[in-house]
Amino acid sequence: MAEFKRFYTLFQPEHYNIYLDINRATKEISGKTTIEGEATEKSILVHQKGLKIESVEVADQAVPFEIDNDIDAIKIELLQAGLTALTIKYNAPLTDTMMGIYPSYYEVNGEKKQIIGTQFETNFARQAFPSIDEPEAKAKFDIALKFDEQPGETVLSNMPEVREENGVHYFDTTVRMSTYLVAFAFGDLQSKQTTTKSGVKVGVFGTKAHKASELDFALDIAKRSIEFYEDFYETPYPLPHSWQLALPDFSAGAMENWGLVTYREAYLLLDPENTSLEVKQRVATVIAHELAHQWFGDLVTMKWWDDLWLNESFANMMEYVSINAIEPDWNIWEVFQTTEAPMALQRDATDGVQSVHVQVNNPAEIDALFDGAIVYAKGARMLVMARALIGDDALRAGLKNYFAAHHYDNAMGADLWKALGDASGIDVGAVMNSWLEQPGYPVVTAGVVDGQLTLSQDQFFIGEGKEVDRQWQIPLKSNYSVAPQIFKDKGITLGDYAKLRKENDAPFRLNVGNESHFIVKYDKTLLDDILNHVDELDSISQLQLLQDLRLLAEGRQISYAEVVPLLSRFADSHSNIVNDALYSVANNLKKFVKSGTDSETNLRQLFDKLSQKSFARLGWNANSDESNDDQLTRPYVLNAALYAKNAKVIETAHDLFMENATKLSDLAADIRVFVIMNEVKNFGSKELFAHLLKTSRQTSDPSFKEDIRAALTSTTDPELIAELITKFEDAQTIKPQDLRGWFRGVLANDAGEQAAWDWIRNDWQWLEDTVGGDMEFTTYITVIAGVFKTQERLDEFKAFFEPKINTPGLTREIQMDTKVIESRVALVEAEEKSVNEAIASEIK
Ligand SMILES: [Zn+2]
Repeated sequence: MAEFKRFYTLFQPEHYNIYLDINRATKEISGKTTIEGEATEKSILVHQKGLKIESVEVADQAVPFEIDNDIDAIKIELLQAGLTALTIKYNAPLTDTMMGIYPSYYEVNGEKKQIIGTQFETNFARQAFPSIDEPEAKAKFDIALKFDEQPGETVLSNMPEVREENGVHYFDTTVRMSTYLVAFAFGDLQSKQTTTKSGVKVGVFGTKAHKASELDFALDIAKRSIEFYEDFYETPYPLPHSWQLALPDFSAGAMENWGLVTYREAYLLLDPENTSLEVKQRVATVIAHELAHQWFGDLVTMKWWDDLWLNESFANMMEYVSINAIEPDWNIWEVFQTTEAPMALQRDATDGVQSVHVQVNNPAEIDALFDGAIVYAKGARMLVMARALIGDDALRAGLKNYFAAHHYDNAMGADLWKALGDASGIDVGAVMNSWLEQPGYPVVTAGVVDGQLTLSQDQFFIGEGKEVDRQWQIPLKSNYSVAPQIFKDKGITLGDYAKLRKENDAPFRLNVGNESHFIVKYDKTLLDDILNHVDELDSISQLQLLQDLRLLAEGRQISYAEVVPLLSRFADSHSNIVNDALYSVANNLKKFVKSGTDSETNLRQLFDKLSQKSFARLGWNANSDESNDDQLTRPYVLNAALYAKNAKVIETAHDLFMENATKLSDLAADIRVFVIMNEVKNFGSKELFAHLLKTSRQTSDPSFKEDIRAALTSTTDPELIAELITKFEDAQTIKPQDLRGWFRGVLANDAGEQAAWDWIRNDWQWLEDTVGGDMEFTTYITVIAGVFKTQERLDEFKAFFEPKINTPGLTREIQMDTKVIESRVALVEAEEKSVNEAIASEIK
């Protein structure tokens, strides 16, 4: 085991001069980097990975060096410590890993083209230039780029270009920043640009495979987000420009490089004429997330990766704060309730999950920190709790001081809590540390015991969990004022229930607004009281009720059989988030039925019963003046009606397909996926399959491409499934960045599960070679754990993954996912009978 030393302790860079010559045709990079800084010792370490170092010089004198690939280092012997200017010459191959400097491939009118872009987070800057590649090692950068340039090509970087000489593009010196935020890109790009109120240039860039109008939505959101943040943070945007660039090949969702944010095309570009509101909201929140980072993450950066949550949790909260401010009609916090909240509550209930704040040393383990459900979703929920506790005025004042104290520098979690604590007069850190440092979350049991209203807290587990007596400081947010603001104890008695119920004249509730990260288990008295008044609850409270019951059922604290009879009470709701929660419970019942059995037929009938009225109300086509709620509800209802095999719905979908067969992309975006999927499933043919596959290759509209993927992966024809799997390794048809979605689609399809599972086991090495460096590589395992539900699959899963358990970065995921499948298998085995009886009696 190598020792992981922070290189920054030996050498503190102040300034980089980076010259790069990149040749796309020969796939070669040659570079020269000069680093000025302070060496605290004679022997220093500089990061490199995969670089062929030609020479290291100090003051034109060659100095001895040695490469140590185990720790990604060049070991350099200086003549003396102190101020030093190191010049390193090197070359490196240009590789297709979507990390470091890499090409993105695309086609315009049949012509194959590429854009070069960069992805340096977390530790890939060292693949592009020798550096102290640690977030604390902030320095200024002068970047000069040369490449096999064609007329009309655009070249971008963090700062504006200041001059071009002999084919070399020179960019302005950056402000002090971390290496992982350095970025550049070049290629044949189109753009749209505007300027914020304060004079910041904002631009959106993409390939010419897209219609120019596809850049408009992002430009508008980016401009207004920056204006919002300048106002909210009371701190100006620190750079002259903010470019947003869509790259055809991109491993993560987007990356907050300072001044040059890069995105997956699906998260930046959209057809303003035909894109669903859901996709527009997703794109807007991604842009707002990256732009929140321009201050929080870029201007002030975490000192080390253990505080990654500081960056991500915060940006994840701010994307909602800002979009809620600039698009108030969207009620974007509802999306937080249907995406981030359940994601965090689900994963955080598995024993062995990481805490939001995690110690990390090994570079291979840094990428495994990016757990979307924890560092992003749970962390954001944590900050939402903190925000609710201190209010927006104190939040803003605290942030302003935080930016002023740490700008162009680094900070740790405690610095944020101190700033927020000083601004609010509340010891925020004391409350938040119980959430930050401990994995998991509590279930608060509320009940009437001997006439007394009592509360207690225990850690909530789905599956086996080791009780280690964790306690949290829980913001209770009760509607009864007798409940404390913060519940710190194991248990508490609030007083005589009958008296309290009378005084308050409403059912007793906790976590009103669902902003705190816990769930509630009400006893029968309290739950019946709530259910008797359920129509008076707002939609977030109704969603919360269903969500908590679903989790309690997953955790075996109640039975799914008890939840089944409640579903029809919510089936006619006009709220999209209530429908989301309803169908989230209903879809979870699918694990209790086997394909082709009577119980499956019964479940389909239950879906029919649940969706009938709403389908009759909403139909396939939107009214011109319908509400956002109706627009967002329709997909849930159509999906349910199609699962129900409702003959009328299937027929109408078929008609819609036939009417639009020559121009499927023109079908309304929010129903398109269901129309195409229905056609593949119920009227599919080899010709249709081939046609859709070809269309998917050709279209530049990311959401249309996703719709086709969902449709093709739902085919039940074994021959077509086999053909589809041969395309998994054909980058011309399925880009590696999109492969996980295709794999998940086939695996989750009963008819494709075996074939997809065989593929990943047989070709694991290929997968690792192709996307193994990807930050989200481990999520392939998560996807498998999301599907498997039988003992046989559990055994196969263990047989395949247990030998890989010591692979750096995979350990936690394999352990967690084994538990996830184990708990599902046990749940199904224990409750299959009672759940199916409950379903059967619901459809009588
Ligand atoms: Zn982020």
